[in-house]
Amino acid sequence: MSSRRGPPKHQNSYAWKPNAGIKINETEVGGKFRPYSEITGVCPRCKEQIDWKRRYGKYKPLKEPAKCQLCTKRNVRQAYHNLCSGCAKEQKVCAKCRCRVDQIVGRDSADVEEEQKMLEEAIKNARERDRRTLLRAKRVTPSFQISTGAMLV
Ligand SMILES: [Zn+2]
Ligand SMILES: [Zn+2]
Repeated sequence: MSSRRGPPKHQNSYAWKPNAGIKINETEVGGKFRPYSEITGVCPRCKEQIDWKRRYGKYKPLKEPAKCQLCTKRNVRQAYHNLCSGCAKEQKVCAKCRCRVDQIVGRDSADVEEEQKMLEEAIKNARERDRRTLLRAKRVTPSFQISTGAMLV
């Protein structure tokens, strides 16, 4: 009766690491100083796929807006998307795989802009006393500096 103990003879002594030995330029998109923009307008499965590409250095951000496969306008601002956010939203589909989805990941920038407009409207309509409070609140929120049509990387 032979009883072997201990680990098998040929065992991987180290885990495989993506990008091992490749120096990452932190000032490049995806680096520490220029993080990728949020993945929005897609179903959780596609988000996972895009996330995976980012993690393993296979993600290629768009250099210019891509053509939407539905309205054919150059309106697609996120890499790997096939539809512009407008069409995807109208059809209630994922901007990548075009499956019907109830749950879309992330918030559309148009929604954020709409919200900002509403807040500005509220500031306008607010009574003088309330206005000061709102303005103060707005100043400390950096997320309001989203410009229309900004390129997402
Ligand atoms: Zn479109
Ligand atoms: Zn999808």
